[in-house]
Amino acid sequence: MSDPAWPAPPQGPCALPATVDAEVAILGAGIHGAALARELTLRGVTCALVDRGEVGGGTSQWSSQLLHGGIRYMLTGDIRQMREGLVERATWARIAPRRCHWEAFWMPHRSWPEGLAHRVGIGLYDFWGSERPNWPAELSLGHVPKEAFLGDPRGVLGPFRGATAYADLMTWDRDLTKDLAASSEAILLDFHEAEAFEVDGGGLRSLRLQDRRDGSVRQLTARRWVFALGPWTDGAMSQWFDESRKRLRLSAGIHLWFDPVPGCERPWAIRRPKGRILFVIPRDGMLQVGTTEREVGDGWVPILEGEREELLGALEANQPSLPWREMPVRAEELGVRPLVAASGATTHLSREAVLERHTRFTNLTLVLGGKLTTARALMDRLATDLTGLRCEASTTAPLRLWDGQHAEIR
Ligand SMILES: Cc1cc2nc3c(=O)[nH]c(=O)nc-3n(C[C@H](O)[C@H](O)[C@H](O)COP(=O)(O)OP(=O)(O)OC[C@H]3O[C@@H](n4cnc5c(N)ncnc54)[C@H](O)[C@@H]3O)c2cc1C
Repeated sequence: MSDPAWPAPPQGPCALPATVDAEVAILGAGIHGAALARELTLRGVTCALVDRGEVGGGTSQWSSQLLHGGIRYMLTGDIRQMREGLVERATWARIAPRRCHWEAFWMPHRSWPEGLAHRVGIGLYDFWGSERPNWPAELSLGHVPKEAFLGDPRGVLGPFRGATAYADLMTWDRDLTKDLAASSEAILLDFHEAEAFEVDGGGLRSLRLQDRRDGSVRQLTARRWVFALGPWTDGAMSQWFDESRKRLRLSAGIHLWFDPVPGCERPWAIRRPKGRILFVIPRDGMLQVGTTEREVGDGWVPILEGEREELLGALEANQPSLPWREMPVRAEELGVRPLVAASGATTHLSREAVLERHTRFTNLTLVLGGKLTTARALMDRLATDLTGLRCEASTTAPLRLWDGQHAEIR
């Protein structure tokens, strides 16, 4: 089975020249690579954006699609990371208003003490996240009225007594990534395979690439290099430079997509053991359910039957009024989170990112870990480091829509 990140490329020749020269070469066109391309363009710096597949074709299309402070950090006590996410959430709502929409997530409780704890925690979350540009007036936060709760089929028969609603921002991850790339002037080398690096003194100088569309060869030269290869980083560093050090721990998560269920209008976020959250989200005319956590090795992994089973079991236990096992699964997807290596369970590993300056190649930076939510901020920081230029417009300049489409009408 082939890795879904690299489907067969489209047919036809690529119009790019045989040699490409840029100030910065970015390898990996996920949310981080695409965000960096925009940051460099905003600073007037040339860059090339290289990917073995298409823009947004890796992890950045398999996320839970939330631009969030991370309500789970309220539970794990990582308040700094949560507040950073909340600030970034507001930035996305400002720069990508048509690729995001606000939602009132219901967090159900099993008992009144738990309900009280949710009210306090969510009250703080929404207080710290009170900057919500374009918040729709019809969405209500805080205590969910009993009749509304029982009007949702997920609220009856289950272990829950009521719910509290909190705000978060939803997006379309792959489109958002493509919008970032489209908002840059990067020379796009998608569907290009990295073949051989040329090293000059202590740094990388150029890279021979093969176009997967027609087999033609291109030479890319750059002064600075950034690898934003997501979960493929360790594999690439081993293949290209014989490095055996593991920088990342990989954790797989799945989503299942069901037909829509009448009456399920608001997304639910259900607390599970080990600080995990089970999401049940009506979106795009379907019901999206996720996610799990399973530590995995390198590269692409298939969904395990046990993983599907675990998710279905959790759904049955928490929302028994819906016949989950009889409802056909319309689609399923698995993404692999790149988490910065450390000991301990991946559920408790930080989703924070690290920018690593390579010790052997001094003009190379590696982007490790991270989230959709914080990708812009992190790449803003990296672009400032690389160019010495700050850029106010990063948090205000609206993104170009890659397809010219208004997201809500899809
Ligand atoms: C199940 C799940 C749910 C998640 N939910 C959320 C969420 O709700 N909110 C949130 O903020 N974050 C979420 N995340 C995290 C987020 O999705 C990732 O952190 C983010 O997408 C990583 O982006 P990236 O650019 O680092 O990597 P990727 O998107 O994987 O990009 C790496 C790119 O490198 C390319 N590449 C790989 N090898 C090569 C090579 N040899 N040559 C050239 N190109 C190569 C790939 O094709 C790919 O396009 C979730 C992750 C998972 C797995």
